[in-house]
Amino acid sequence: MEQARRKGTAFGTPYWNEGVDRAATTPVAELSASADLVVIGAGYTGLNAALAAAKAGLDVVVLDREHPGTGASGRNGGHVSTSMKPGLAELSAKVGKTKAREILSLGFSAVSYLNRLIVDEGIDCQLENCGHFTGAHKPSAMAGLKAWADEQQALGNPVEMVAREDQRAYCGSDHFHGGVFMPAWQSIHPGRYVNGLAARVIAAGARVFSGQDVVGLTQSAAGVEVTLAGGATIGARTVVVATNAHTGSITPRLRRQIIPIASVQIATERLDPELVRRLHPRRAMSYDSRRLVTYTRPSPDGTRVLVGSRVRFTPGDPEASRAPMHARMERFFPELAGMRSDYLWGGLVGYTFDHLPHIGTDGAIHHAMGYCGTGVAMASYFGHLLGRRVAGDTDTVTPLDGMPFASAPFYRGEPWFLPFAFAWYAFKDRFG
Ligand SMILES: Cc1cc2nc3c(=O)[nH]c(=O)nc-3n(C[C@H](O)[C@H](O)[C@H](O)COP(=O)(O)OP(=O)(O)OC[C@H]3O[C@@H](n4cnc5c(N)ncnc54)[C@H](O)[C@@H]3O)c2cc1C
Repeated sequence: MEQARRKGTAFGTPYWNEGVDRAATTPVAELSASADLVVIGAGYTGLNAALAAAKAGLDVVVLDREHPGTGASGRNGGHVSTSMKPGLAELSAKVGKTKAREILSLGFSAVSYLNRLIVDEGIDCQLENCGHFTGAHKPSAMAGLKAWADEQQALGNPVEMVAREDQRAYCGSDHFHGGVFMPAWQSIHPGRYVNGLAARVIAAGARVFSGQDVVGLTQSAAGVEVTLAGGATIGARTVVVATNAHTGSITPRLRRQIIPIASVQIATERLDPELVRRLHPRRAMSYDSRRLVTYTRPSPDGTRVLVGSRVRFTPGDPEASRAPMHARMERFFPELAGMRSDYLWGGLVGYTFDHLPHIGTDGAIHHAMGYCGTGVAMASYFGHLLGRRVAGDTDTVTPLDGMPFASAPFYRGEPWFLPFAFAWYAFKDRFG
């Protein structure tokens, strides 16, 4: 796990790198001994923080041990939604109805922010208003989907219940027993988004360095000393830690609060665009209702089917995931039996013990992370809020600031319990 946490590339090359110009980062000779803000991690969180702070006139340095987008931000499914893991009833039972609504409304703010950012910054990342369809994988799952849909409607999301006989208009599959369609939810090309964003951050005056591994953080009255592998140091007035599932020993407390969970994707060989269109009639994202969820989408150019799933919770040889990924794809789309996958990759999703993202400030060190698999919009928004916070804006406090950020006994960042959790979810999907 430590190797995977340190090297995103251990998970194979994402389809999203195909034909995408990787953002040119700043030459290492421009590393300076001081900065107003040092951002650790060049994914959506870190880059959005850097953009807001640089636009406010701060001297910003972004450091990533690899290249921008090598973590989850260049490896995800590109599904954009207001969703957070806990539902309204579940969260209300924990924090009260008012606070639960305030927390869940952050999903709406996040999607609005992302849409505005893409337009304002002119980032060409193929944002589409395609909608998301979730199908019931067994008849009894429909009741749960209905309850979830009612909650989504109560939160302000438009919802369409889809009968089994109508579902082929949403997802070209007979696998489901009806489902729910969320017409307002969207998709993007994650690789174009993260590279376009990195270019905008540099254009705003920040310096973005790849290949810079941060190995130490020391906070004092003067600010934070950031130590790089190789021994160089940067004296920062403030730091944003944006390392999500790759959070490691430089922030031991956060490391104990984040659970890195592996998630895998494939992209098929090029297919007849007519077949891809038949399987995704509205170009919608599709999910099944399993806990070990499988999801599919067309590639933005409409020539491939992309499938994501949890075929294991821990990394390992990516190739071992290929056969189970194909089996899941064929469960959705039997027509794709015998097709090749040209791309197989994975990444680490940052989970938390309460299934909520967390944002907070400890002296001069700020963090946002733990988006539990729904971070395309949320990581962007939380990063933006932190960038503005560092620049002195006072309206950046969220209902999640100050929430207890739980860990578990005997957990030091190596999630030994994941194989047991995987087996339990597989059992519940089958018999629950
Ligand atoms: C396979 C997969 C599919 C997903 N699908 C979706 C989806 O469809 N929709 C959705 O909303 N969300 C999805 N997610 C989640 C989403 O991608 C993440 O929530 C989001 O990208 C998190 O962004 P981030 O910037 O916080 O972290 P990351 O993008 O992971 O960036 C963290 C960065 O920190 C760097 N780093 C870590 N430690 C150090 C250090 N010590 N020194 C220097 N650099 C360091 C890493 O190299 C990395 O680049 C998915 C995630 C995965 C893995």
